[in-house]
Amino acid sequence: MDYLSTRDKTLRLSAAEAITMGLSRDGGLFTPVSFPNLGTLGMEALCGMSYQQRSAYVIGKFLEDFRPEELGYYALNAYSPDKFDHPAVAPVRKVDRNTWCLELWHGPTSAFKDMALQMLPLLLSASLKKTGEEKTACILVATSGDTGKAALEGFKDIEQTKILVFYPENGVSEIQKLQMVTQEGRNVGVCAVQGNFDDAQSGVKRIFSDPDLRQSLAERGYFLSSANSINWGRILPQVVYYISAYCDLVRSGEIRLGQKVNYCVPTGNFGNILSCYYARKMGVPVGKLICASNRNDVLTDFIRTGVYDRNRPFHTTMSPSMDILISSNLERLLFDLSEWNDGLIREYMTQLGQTGRYVISHEIRERLQMMFYGGYCSEEDTAAAIAGMYKKHGYLIDPHTAVAAKVLADYRRESRDETPSIFVSTASPYKFCDSVLAAIGETPAEDSLDRIGQLQDLSGVPAPARLAELRGKAVRFTDVTEKAGMDAAVQAFLQ
Ligand SMILES: *Cc1c(COP(=O)(O)O)cnc(C)c1O
Repeated sequence: MDYLSTRDKTLRLSAAEAITMGLSRDGGLFTPVSFPNLGTLGMEALCGMSYQQRSAYVIGKFLEDFRPEELGYYALNAYSPDKFDHPAVAPVRKVDRNTWCLELWHGPTSAFKDMALQMLPLLLSASLKKTGEEKTACILVATSGDTGKAALEGFKDIEQTKILVFYPENGVSEIQKLQMVTQEGRNVGVCAVQGNFDDAQSGVKRIFSDPDLRQSLAERGYFLSSANSINWGRILPQVVYYISAYCDLVRSGEIRLGQKVNYCVPTGNFGNILSCYYARKMGVPVGKLICASNRNDVLTDFIRTGVYDRNRPFHTTMSPSMDILISSNLERLLFDLSEWNDGLIREYMTQLGQTGRYVISHEIRERLQMMFYGGYCSEEDTAAAIAGMYKKHGYLIDPHTAVAAKVLADYRRESRDETPSIFVSTASPYKFCDSVLAAIGETPAEDSLDRIGQLQDLSGVPAPARLAELRGKAVRFTDVTEKAGMDAAVQAFLQ
């Protein structure tokens, strides 16, 4: 299967090339030229498989330059029992008569980013070999918390790669910081930046676009690459769990094969919900795609009006991984909905860059609204959703998941749509102990690691072992740099 760019549909690359490059030189995102339909036979076969087998099967449909045995081996590695603490990998939990929750946080860092970042490094390392690339990929990441740790854990000790993560010195939670500075592995580095997430992010972007630095790194055998969700190698592994969750409901007799289900996804950069859209394109009977936002409700307005406008206040919320005003992966959806009108996509993205705003055509808006519903959730409602879920169902959910649960409830009330529905859970509640404790009416303990024990005692649900183990772990990384010193930090890391 070949790949093209959302800004140049005449381009053709192999899967390995698309994964190695990450972003197209024209600024566009790589997208497959077609979406294979799974068909009834395919879906029946998938229902009988393990998560690892489903992953190799689905990914194999798009990566024809990879052998099936090779993909099977990667899937066994990426989703092995020593990495995921649930045998189903991405289990579906029943909440009530026609509501389920898809738990995507059983991986090594307790956030859904693991689902893709355990697989991407294996695909990237293999892609380097397939394309004959001899240089080592240096992955640079600016993180607001979850991505950094998940990327470190995924790339740890992967051949022909090194990874350096920059995080804002005072912009991540205590637990997130501990997770990163205690990271193990021979090829990893972590550095704090004096500033906020935008400072770290713009520093990384500056490094990527510095031709002199690129040249000097190339001479030393390195090239820069990125692990964020614009890479096709991150979107593709996510398509699997939407198919897998559907199959699980069929297998347990909750739904008939062919029956529709709705998915509600807590959304930031639009990568996760885009993967659900792709599962639908492959023939999974998805009814409504419900896009849930926190107070940063740019996507809600977009889906309702067809106007994308990032000119609005930025809110810091208790669901920080969704505090985003530019959702990069929306470009892939618009490319598809416009029937590959790459000229139009270039126009929208230019307008977004220049004015922070664009208005989609009438036809694209109609297609969008047929499939998608957008809703948002205030901070008070997020806390109320956590408390409500705990009281009513004895189920602890994190603030990101709570946003999805609340928006799903709003959608059902407005639409009276009784379709069986799955809301997506993107982080363990133990990653956000203070918000969760406060929401259920408890006073969080002084020390952030004590809060893990506190929440565990209250709920009786064991905390993920890796979070509980943080207390005894040695700190390996203490570097702090000014924003201007990030280039030097990269140079030092690659010595
Ligand atoms: C990254 C993240 C999201 C947002 O996912 P997108 O693919 O960026 O839309 C939601 N919840 C959590 C916990 C995350 O880490």
